[in-house]
Amino acid sequence: MLKKEFKRKDVERMRNLIKGDTGKSAELQVGYTAKKENRKEGDIWEESGKKWTIKDGIKQTYTKLDKVKKEAILPLFCPCCGTLMKKRNDTKMYKIHKKCFDCVIEMETQLKIEGKYEEYEKKVILGNAKDMVDDYETYLLESINTSNTQYVSEKGEVERWKGGIDKEKLSKEIKEAASEFKEKIKQAQND
Ligand SMILES: [Zn+2]
Repeated sequence: MLKKEFKRKDVERMRNLIKGDTGKSAELQVGYTAKKENRKEGDIWEESGKKWTIKDGIKQTYTKLDKVKKEAILPLFCPCCGTLMKKRNDTKMYKIHKKCFDCVIEMETQLKIEGKYEEYEKKVILGNAKDMVDDYETYLLESINTSNTQYVSEKGEVERWKGGIDKEKLSKEIKEAASEFKEKIKQAQND
């Protein structure tokens, strides 16, 4: 059985976070070569064809961060009808449909009239499912490539193992599971 381990690095990182001193995040293990590089908060660098950065003391891809940032920005006015988006449901609806709650209701009513609602509903649900699988796959692959003693379990718990993990085997398993999911979604979309 693999023993869980709390590394000195983790204690240091936590201490830096508490002190608000993430810039001093000292040691990071990088990539398959396990080459050690000194990176600090806000640094951006290229590695395995991706842009990486350190935010809050955690190594992550820069592009993903950028995407999250863009999605978090809610425009003041609905691009569809031009009214001020201030209702609670507007934020949620804008993320999915890029329009306000009222516009979504109107669009869905119209689709019901035209008898296209079920098809649309399936498209939205399956589209969301595919995005979720993509995000989870990226997250898992990034997690195992960030450290060789850390792995995020199916429940989303971070586990630290003594003796390291087999990155190539895990990467392969994650990719296989994700493509299996995506294949199922694709089949459902074509039904
Ligand atoms: Zn609107």
